[in-house]
Amino acid sequence: MVNSGKEMLSSAQQLISQTGKRMGLEQELINRLVLPERIIEFALPLEKDDGRLEVLIGYRSQHNNLRGPYKGGIRFHQNVTREEVQALSLLMTIKTAVANIPMGGGKGGIAVDPKSLSKAELRKLSKLYAQKLAPFMGQDIDIPAPDVNTNPQIMQWMLEEYEAIKGKKEPSAFTGKAVEHGGSLGREEATGYGGVIALEELLSRLQLDKQRPLTIAIQGFGNVGYFFSEAAYSKGHQIVAISDSKGGITAHETGNLEPKLVIDCKKEQGSIAGCYCVGGLCDSSNGENITNEQLLELPVDILVPAALETVITSKNMQNIKAKIIVEMANGPITEEAREYLTHKGVYILPDVLANAGGVIVSYLEWVQGKQGYWWSKKEVIARLEEIMKSAFSDVWTRSAEKDIDLKSAAFEVALQRLTAQL
Ligand code: GLU
Repeated sequence: MVNSGKEMLSSAQQLISQTGKRMGLEQELINRLVLPERIIEFALPLEKDDGRLEVLIGYRSQHNNLRGPYKGGIRFHQNVTREEVQALSLLMTIKTAVANIPMGGGKGGIAVDPKSLSKAELRKLSKLYAQKLAPFMGQDIDIPAPDVNTNPQIMQWMLEEYEAIKGKKEPSAFTGKAVEHGGSLGREEATGYGGVIALEELLSRLQLDKQRPLTIAIQGFGNVGYFFSEAAYSKGHQIVAISDSKGGITAHETGNLEPKLVIDCKKEQGSIAGCYCVGGLCDSSNGENITNEQLLELPVDILVPAALETVITSKNMQNIKAKIIVEMANGPITEEAREYLTHKGVYILPDVLANAGGVIVSYLEWVQGKQGYWWSKKEVIARLEEIMKSAFSDVWTRSAEKDIDLKSAAFEVALQRLTAQL
């Protein structure tokens, strides 16, 4: 896990190079798309509640702005590295191009375990990060958003600091804000819901849409995993396993975990492990606790890695039994594993398409903030659906025309749109 940033970076760069070569692009052009335009590294001197000074490291990688301002989240995690942030910013450039929204790619992070900080420390750290990034960002330059372990509250603290420095209101400088602070309705559920829109499109192309329920295992129960499971459940699928960073539960092939009950139990107990026997869950299953590794290898129709990168690798790829994998995390499958699984006939709905719902509604939030006029949730969701379906269709068509897998097709669509700007 510690090295996952390096592995993900080389996977992502390799994908751009391979795609560029297959499309006959010149090497200079490929280099331009592989390398970030700028990476900023900051020292963040955080004064802790007990008066000690801890110097943390933060990053912002501004990968590419050919199609619009740099766009992407900021994550707080102990394993954040320069390489990881760089890789994730590259994936954002591809993602915004696949979604065909007028944005580029960026990503930021702080190497810190946010669970070790008090609320006051977290607020101070968020504001410090915004201070350091302020000279290099803005609604038309670089627009951060939430990512792993960051949320609307953190965006609000950062925006407050940024606006204080600039001396003006500029709500579209950050997205993923709370609705009462200029956020968009529908942003909270957008990533998970967008993933289910893409999944349903895939099922209909594979003529599996009449087959209900399909069994689903979901790794990760943060914002993305939760809203994905809720949307999939309401579409009539059967959620047979869910996990968080501390472990998970399975209801086996016969049971169905109701996401709402699981999240209530997680809130109460602090983790999912043990939640199968809560509320109505016990009646519907003879569930048991499982590890995150076991969850990935369950005999399900659809596997959804929705936590962190590099969880399906050469070490466990032979044990994966799902027929469809929806990459809701960024970079959960290494290149070697992707090639192996694709060859085996597994359909992988790639991250740059499957989890684009978040950045799509971020874009809608940015538009609303700039025009100072907010849409209803119905309107936002309708636009999200339209953009997601059209992105899916572009990727699917390219994949069929060229007889290539969906990730390769998504990269082709993106590179074509990026090079059209040159
Ligand atoms: N962090 C999300 C992602 O990886 C959302 C980014 C955004 O909304 O800018 O796509």
